[in-house]
Amino acid sequence: MTFNELIENKDMLKNLNDLGYTNPTAIQEKALPYALNKQDVLAKAKTGSGKTVAFGIPILLDVNVKEKYKTSSIVLAPTRELADQVAKELRKVAKFKNNIKILTLCGGTPMRGQIHSLDHGAHIVVGTPGRVLAHLQKGSLNLKYITSLVLDEADRMLDMGFFEDIEKILDLTPKERQTLLFSATFDDNILKLSKSIQNDRIEVQIEEEKSTIQERFFKFSEQGIENAILHYRPKSCIIFCNTKIKCKELEERLQSIGFDALTINSDLDQIDRDETLIEFAHKSCTFLIATDVASRGLDIPNVDLVINYDLPKSEEVYTHRIGRTGRMDKEGIAISFVKGYVEYIDTELEDTNALHVKDKTPYSADLTTLCIDGGKRDKIRAGDILGTLVKDIGLEAKHIGKITINRKDSYVSIEKEFAKEAFEKLKETKIKNKKIRVWMLA
Ligand code: ADP
Ligand code: MG
Repeated sequence: MTFNELIENKDMLKNLNDLGYTNPTAIQEKALPYALNKQDVLAKAKTGSGKTVAFGIPILLDVNVKEKYKTSSIVLAPTRELADQVAKELRKVAKFKNNIKILTLCGGTPMRGQIHSLDHGAHIVVGTPGRVLAHLQKGSLNLKYITSLVLDEADRMLDMGFFEDIEKILDLTPKERQTLLFSATFDDNILKLSKSIQNDRIEVQIEEEKSTIQERFFKFSEQGIENAILHYRPKSCIIFCNTKIKCKELEERLQSIGFDALTINSDLDQIDRDETLIEFAHKSCTFLIATDVASRGLDIPNVDLVINYDLPKSEEVYTHRIGRTGRMDKEGIAISFVKGYVEYIDTELEDTNALHVKDKTPYSADLTTLCIDGGKRDKIRAGDILGTLVKDIGLEAKHIGKITINRKDSYVSIEKEFAKEAFEKLKETKIKNKKIRVWMLA
């Protein structure tokens, strides 16, 4: 099926095409006809299947740009990272029309700034239940004009104990709204939630497609993880541990060997968390070490290896974890270290000593990430940074990696050999006629 068969809006179609979304993913193909038809949909699909676009298209097509003081849709997501990702993806899809305002409301940032933003109106709000409710109670957010409400990763929100907050929020939206509920599982709690908030729901599920993930299980040994890393030599790898302490220990160990490894956990403050994710996405950090809480739902592209340093208790969590690799039909590898008896594993365990290690030298990341203190707010675009690096500084484009433009700052990764020089020169350069400050992320 093509998007043409699902959507009429020409600008939307052109934009999807520009984004490289040539065909709908399976969940988009199944959910869009109903979601566009204003029906309540309960959708189940695994991570990385394109759920955001599946609910994003209908809610964005619904926006009346002239009515920014009448928020028409709200998306609730479990964590700030997920809400940010949803907002980012929605903004990409929102490019089909000018001036659609999408606002995120999450904890960890002061209420005051958010209230100020709300005063300027928003067509779509994306937020976490706790903070959204806080705004509703304060009177800074009004959901009277909501036509669609989306619960993204609803199972996770229930796990986090948001059931009551969600119900309270829903009570403050019009009864005749459309409710779209997305979840990776359809367990009893999800069905209960659906019953209490949806009307005549349509259920759509994607049959698990053939996995593109190669799974291997190894007997745990102290040295094992190093052997495995040197065997696979991944450029982008997520390692899961069950506790924050284990994450920290492993981070120190890998760093001391010479690998670029960083931990992401809920103890880090928001700035450090964001920067860690940026470094990972920009490939200046090879190994991201995480607990389940810190990692779920993050859309990190091109992870070539997932390592379960500790195995999770449930198979469901295991499936979530390895879903970080092999996304969108890419090939992926997931390896796990098994200690003792694990209920859902009945495969014979391998020994990492049997893995062929061609090159025993540890390696660091190929890229270094620079941070620039200017962003969208300063009208800086990726092209400006690229232009400065290539035209003013004389760097070849092939040595430049990913560029991320945030509101106030931007990040660009550069091949290590060229990073220091680019950094020194950038400090002396202007972007958009403005002197900039630059940092090199460690
Ligand atoms: P989920 O919420 O199901 O985990 P996302 O919505 O985060 O998945 O999408 C995963 C990735 O797939 C994103 O990087 C997104 O840009 C990309 N994507 C979404 N729809 C399409 C499409 N139709 N074609 C190609 N890529 C897509
Ligand atoms: Mg998602």
